[in-house]
Amino acid sequence: MKNRYICPKCRNNINIENNIVLIAKNEFDQKGIIMLQTKFGDYSTKFSSDFTIIEGDKVKFLCPVCHANLSNLKNDCLASFNIIDQSKKESLLVFSQIYGEKCTYVIEDKVVKKSFGDDLGKYIDSDWILLI
Ligand SMILES: [Zn+2]
Repeated sequence: MKNRYICPKCRNNINIENNIVLIAKNEFDQKGIIMLQTKFGDYSTKFSSDFTIIEGDKVKFLCPVCHANLSNLKNDCLASFNIIDQSKKESLLVFSQIYGEKCTYVIEDKVVKKSFGDDLGKYIDSDWILLI
């Protein structure tokens, strides 16, 4: 059994094998499909060909199934979805919505259990964690 990656709203799977599939919306309201890696620390991404963003652009991630907004309520630079591991333990994976920013936090019971990426320091001390 592999980890399951699910939308916090509709609880449907949002991965296809080792890719997380999300809808991204840029600041001009253009939408595209984005694929992220399930492997922690791998920030390589793929986009649908009609969607353009450049490093530093802020996007909003949406669930590909129910279109729920995955942005954090307190800090819309961050988004999250849920992971259920082999032992059925559920955690929250929080990541940046700024393209090119490398930071990932795994939250269990409102505590950061794991974190990855060169840009971690940007968010680690803020109060966003209290609102997820
Ligand atoms: Zn959903």
